[in-house]
Amino acid sequence: MNVAMDIKERKKQLLDRLEKSGYIATRFVRQAMENVPREDFLPEELRSSAYEDRPLSIGLGQTISAPHMNAMMCSGLKLEGATPLKVLEIGTGSGYHAALCAEVLKLSGTGGHVYTIERIEVLAQEAKDKLEKAGYKDLVTVIVSDGTLGHPAEAPYDRILVTAAAPRVPRALVNQLAEGGIMLIPVGEKSGHQTLCEVSKSGGKAAQKDVCGVVFVPLIGEDGFSK
Ligand code: SAM
Repeated sequence: MNVAMDIKERKKQLLDRLEKSGYIATRFVRQAMENVPREDFLPEELRSSAYEDRPLSIGLGQTISAPHMNAMMCSGLKLEGATPLKVLEIGTGSGYHAALCAEVLKLSGTGGHVYTIERIEVLAQEAKDKLEKAGYKDLVTVIVSDGTLGHPAEAPYDRILVTAAAPRVPRALVNQLAEGGIMLIPVGEKSGHQTLCEVSKSGGKAAQKDVCGVVFVPLIGEDGFSK
């Protein structure tokens, strides 16, 4: 079978499965996952594994999340809205998840901007290059810093997604979440039991609820784990 054909078919099968199992909850998330080529955000030698539903190594001990996690977080963030959304991602990694969020904002007509923070400079630069190549230069801004402190310069954010596991929800992120905003963040042990939590803010108060068990690399920083 021709390699390009093979990838196309495997992608369709994966997205069908994610939709059927409820990880993909809206047509915009489905379309975004169709439009953004996961293989282009992977190291060359892993491109052929792009449509396997598992995390893959992107080097320096870090990973790109499994597609079902991308689908679940993009769906749970409710990125389709009536007004433009400011989205903050902590943990740029490959840049793929930021591209997916930007694509949902674009496709749904919601509009807005994705700010994504990565603590490892080399990964941030690679992600920036990939995002530019994929056409997201104007929709996504990559920042190198400690995401446990958020990014006060553009706060507040309507949506925050954290793609590394924190020992607790960082105070700065709660403070930088807008009224009516939603944050998804894995919380738990450094390499053990972790739970994806949803934090919402209403009337100035934050409420937290558990979504499901997850496995993420640790969030390292001032209000995260130590190295
Ligand atoms: N969202 C990514 C993607 O689409 O490829 C996957 C992220 S990977 C599971 C987690 C990332 O979080 C790693 O690249 C890691 O370096 C980064 N990270 C860990 N602690 C961080 C911090 N305090 N601030 C910013 N990034 C952090």
